[in-house]
Amino acid sequence: MYLLWMLACATAPAAPPQTPTAPHAVQKTDAEWRAALSPESYGILRQKDTERAFSGSYWNHHDAGTYLCAGCGQPLFTSEDKFDSGTGWPSYTRPASADAVEVEVDRSYGMSREEVLCHRCGGHLGHVFDDGPPPTGRRYCINSGALTFQASAP
Ligand SMILES: [Zn+2]
Repeated sequence: MYLLWMLACATAPAAPPQTPTAPHAVQKTDAEWRAALSPESYGILRQKDTERAFSGSYWNHHDAGTYLCAGCGQPLFTSEDKFDSGTGWPSYTRPASADAVEVEVDRSYGMSREEVLCHRCGGHLGHVFDDGPPPTGRRYCINSGALTFQASAP
């Protein structure tokens, strides 16, 4: 895939850049991802599955700490930005840092949604919507299975 993309760029230098513009820092083959992740996390991160609402580990989780990418360990969200959305998925008003995630338009299932991906490994995390609470008005709706949790030091 990557080679083809390079080739396409080489033959069409005037084309606007694709997003993401750079390869992800963490690159693994499909077999490596499958071996490294639980079946549930593999399905979400690498095959864009969505866990059932109210089924994951973190929708009703209120400890203080940081939520990391289950694929690569990158800090993605913090408990300070987490809120109870009532959807059954962990929800945040913003990522832990501006470059923790990337957002792409997802036109699957006949909808136009904003897909949230880990900036470091490209893993699928969930979607972001514009019906969140202050201060951002954004609702990052994330699959628990894409995350691991690291509690703050007491
Ligand atoms: Zn990641």
